[in-house]
Amino acid sequence: MTFNPDSDISGSNVRKRGRGTAIGVGGGGLAVVAVFLIAQFTGIDLSGFVGGGDTSGGSAPLTTSLSEKCKTGEDANENIECRMAGAGVSIDDFWADNYSLVSSGEYRTPQFALFEASTTTQGCGGASSATGPFYCPGDETIYIDTSFFSQLQQPPFDTTGGPLAQLYIAAHEWGHHIQAISGIMESANRTGTGADSDSVRIELQADCFAGAWVAGASQTEDSSGRTLLEEPSAAEIADALDAAAAVGDDRIQAGSGQGVNSEAWTHGSSEQRQRWFNAGREGGPANCDTFSVDGSQL
Ligand SMILES: [Zn+2]
Repeated sequence: MTFNPDSDISGSNVRKRGRGTAIGVGGGGLAVVAVFLIAQFTGIDLSGFVGGGDTSGGSAPLTTSLSEKCKTGEDANENIECRMAGAGVSIDDFWADNYSLVSSGEYRTPQFALFEASTTTQGCGGASSATGPFYCPGDETIYIDTSFFSQLQQPPFDTTGGPLAQLYIAAHEWGHHIQAISGIMESANRTGTGADSDSVRIELQADCFAGAWVAGASQTEDSSGRTLLEEPSAAEIADALDAAAAVGDDRIQAGSGQGVNSEAWTHGSSEQRQRWFNAGREGGPANCDTFSVDGSQL
């Protein structure tokens, strides 16, 4: 999915965070929601992170606005950071128009931060590249580790990692923001695991919301009425589906040499993630109520 080269993305609120190794001030046990947690199969201990971090100190990293660097759709086509900036403009616009399909409340824009390798957060403690991209409900911020995109192209994922795969991940995390501000996340019981657990329903709904944006994105216009994104090609849709499959729990379990055990799933299988992404593309946000679906249909 390419940006219209002449379109204006300068209104983006995306910020790039400098490297930070300190553990940030904790947010009182707020859990993060990621595309998946790499720690699930590498055994890295994220307990300090997921539990809200260390309250003993830490400082906010320096941040830089990308609005100087990322001005046009051409910038977004050529540079990953600007692609995220452009995605932010488009996804935000989509949800400003479509939030009423999910909630009667008022939509608000999340913060959107890019980092490489590690960063600190205000609400969720420290994050390293072992975390992957994630959303922190405590500070309503989407954190995208841009180095994750190249990881997606390497084992165990081995995806094509095209631009739409990257945009899918940003839109998935934005989906978690929609769940947080609408109360969906709070009403879900995310302590359980399994193919029909609330944890999986949350993740599949975020995939569905990402698909809804992909379908609606080419209707998004910039401030002067120019279309921001062109219609995705079949190959680009395949890139996104490839990424959705790569982060399926069954694929990750199999790739790490474990047996596939659906009882341990937190994000859903490759097949589930692709199917719900398509459900959003086909029916929009109103087609994304993963909580009303019987477990056998999920
Ligand atoms: Zn997620």
